[in-house]
Amino acid sequence: MTENLNPFAIAQAQLDGAAEVLQLDPDMHAFLRQPMREFHFTIPVKMNDGHTEIFQGFRVQYNDARGPAKGGIRFHPRETIDTVRALAAWMTWKTAVSDIPLGGGKGGVICNPREMQPDELERLSRGYMRALSRYVGLTKDSPAPDVYTNPQIMAWMLDEYEILTGHHEPGVITGKPLPLGGSAGRGPATAMGGMFTIREAARLRGLNLAGATCAIQGYGNVGGFAHRLAHDLFGLKVVAVSDEFGGIYNEHGLNPDDVVKHVQQTGKVIDCPGTEKITNHELLELDVDILIPAAIENQLTGQNADRVKAKIVAELANGPTTPEADRILDDKGIYTIPDFLCNAGGVIVSYFEMVQNAYQFYWDESMVNDRLDKKITTAFLAVHDMAQAKKVGTRVAAYLVAVNRVAEAVRLRGWV
Ligand code: NAD
Repeated sequence: MTENLNPFAIAQAQLDGAAEVLQLDPDMHAFLRQPMREFHFTIPVKMNDGHTEIFQGFRVQYNDARGPAKGGIRFHPRETIDTVRALAAWMTWKTAVSDIPLGGGKGGVICNPREMQPDELERLSRGYMRALSRYVGLTKDSPAPDVYTNPQIMAWMLDEYEILTGHHEPGVITGKPLPLGGSAGRGPATAMGGMFTIREAARLRGLNLAGATCAIQGYGNVGGFAHRLAHDLFGLKVVAVSDEFGGIYNEHGLNPDDVVKHVQQTGKVIDCPGTEKITNHELLELDVDILIPAAIENQLTGQNADRVKAKIVAELANGPTTPEADRILDDKGIYTIPDFLCNAGGVIVSYFEMVQNAYQFYWDESMVNDRLDKKITTAFLAVHDMAQAKKVGTRVAAYLVAVNRVAEAVRLRGWV
């Protein structure tokens, strides 16, 4: 039988597994299997060649029992509603496992930002917010950047929202530029949080990080910062990195300054001086201590998981591992730091951004990082303890912690 790679089917299958272990009430299970609310809308945008392009936009508010929905917006040519649903479900579990008072949401637009001019992108971003302005807000739903969206896009969306509502409300969106109320440390936050979880996993496995080897798939916001931080914080030897165009390898380690400089000049990691070419497939199967998928979904599947040699897989990307691959990695004794725990640093610092916006009082980067460390390390240990107590893998354990918390809030509200 071929594997079902539909991300929402995978998210539901993961929940089903946790529901079974938890012996979750069937009505609660049925409720948590579906998004509470979805918005599908068109965004007409005047393009520079004179025609009007009709873009398709989505926003899913998966569950807001624990607080306002929270989650990024993706601009991607292959965006689908099922990807957005899955990501919104994972946000629900992510805010719950991190124990921050927010729910889960996600948004997306089917478009290719790389083929658009900056002013076209601005009109699209403003159009997205116009379509949603009544349904988002500090106390309803607060979007953030994700794949192919960035602080500038957040700034346009914030401005459009504030024009429409007639008041300042910076917490309506996070991942903003600093002058508009962004948080210190938000840029590297996802990778930084991932590093704290890697530190804890290495401690449990008795792995000395100084000089240990690492491969990173994806060199965007998350993968790029992961390379820098792995190198600077722990002295990890990052021997391979990649992006959508392919990867590079050097057995002695890749210096982040050299790779970043090359990416700034060429837009790609390949052909960085002093490196060999490697494919994305080869990168995932390298004999390294730590593998960091930091690109897109469904990279470790039933087809390649048995060839993964890493001791720790730190899932900075969302949904990089299919359920079949999960079983294989568990059987091989590989320690997986599951996505919605490993990459929770982004939403934790987004939450800090909302808190700072509400108080109009801003923290420095070291305070942000200290508080992030405390939050994500507490979450990591709660998941680890649950895995030990229930004798389950780390992903199931993370679901058990998160689903328990969301179900409790749903029950207390009397929804189910
Ligand atoms: P990004 O757009 O900045 O970078 C994505 C990177 O992945 C790019 O280097 C791109 O070339 C690469 N890529 C795309 N398709 C690929 C493929 N088929 N093979 C190999 N590489 C490919 O995005 P990002 O913000 O760095 O997000 C990366 C992952 O982390 C996503 O799964 C995202 O959902 C997740 N994530 C991001 C954040 C955040 O704060 N940005 C938070 C949590 C999770």
